[in-house]
Amino acid sequence: MNEINQLDEMYHEIILDHYRSPRNNHVISQPTKEIESNNPFCGDEIKLQLKMEGGIIKDIGITGRGCAISQASASLMGETLLGKQIEEASVIYHLFRELLTGELSEDKMDQLGDSVALEGVKKFPIRVKCALLSWSAMRDMLEE
Ligand code: ZN
Repeated sequence: MNEINQLDEMYHEIILDHYRSPRNNHVISQPTKEIESNNPFCGDEIKLQLKMEGGIIKDIGITGRGCAISQASASLMGETLLGKQIEEASVIYHLFRELLTGELSEDKMDQLGDSVALEGVKKFPIRVKCALLSWSAMRDMLEE
């Protein structure tokens, strides 16, 4: 993955760590919601499951396959959104989208946690679809 090698070294490590050891990589037996999505440009596939209780994301199950950026981004998303209120998670989705497609101000980056590691992906427009795949699918579940 040449694109990853061109990212900032610390961010590079975070992305590779999430790719190799994806967080929340499990199946939820009775999810509140679930969705499958794919990115035909790259062949990335993702399945997301949510367990919600009292407006809070209690559990996230993530399974999928595809390029390192798509899978690492899904893992980072799960880590960032687990335990958040639905409205808060939706706000974070929009901040992440802004990070990759616009200019997110520094003071808002804290809310993204380690997911800011994907910022450098915006230099590679074709990879932005990979990074946004899981986040867009999550948005669809949160805002439907
Ligand atoms: Zn991809």
